[in-house]
Amino acid sequence: MLRCEICGKQADKHHIVYRCQGGVDFPLNFRYLCSEHHRGKNGPHKSRKLDLEYKLEMQKSLENLLYKDYYNLDELVGLLEINKGMLKRLLKEYKLYKEGYRSSDIVYRLMGKKRYTEDMLEEYYDFIVNF
Ligand SMILES: [Zn+2]
Ligand SMILES: [Zn+2]
Repeated sequence: MLRCEICGKQADKHHIVYRCQGGVDFPLNFRYLCSEHHRGKNGPHKSRKLDLEYKLEMQKSLENLLYKDYYNLDELVGLLEINKGMLKRLLKEYKLYKEGYRSSDIVYRLMGKKRYTEDMLEEYYDFIVNF
C-alpha cells in the first residue's frame, strides 16, 4: 500500500505537473498523498500556493540533478528513471547538440513547457492581500 508522505494514511499518486499540463510519468513528478492531502482544501488541487510550491521544489530537484549543461538520452534514462522511448518523443522538438540535449530544455519540457519562479508565489500572496 502506498502511504501519504504527510500523514501516512493510504495514498494515491499525485502528478506534480499534471498530465493535462504536459506532466510525465517518472518518479520526480510523483507525490504520494492521501485523499485529504491530495484533493482536500489543503491539497495541491485546491491550494494554488501548495501546487506552486510542489512545482518549484520539483524544478529545483531537476536543476540540481541535471547540473551539467548537456545530457544524452541514456544518461537521462538512468538519472530520471524515465522511459526512453517516451523521453525521446518528448525531446524531439529540441535541438540535439553533439554533447546531448541542453539541460535547460530538458527541465523546461519536464515541467510542462513552463519555467516556474519564486515570483509566482509572491504574486499569489499579493493577490491574497489585495483581495
Ligand atoms: Zn495525508
Ligand atoms: Zn493529483
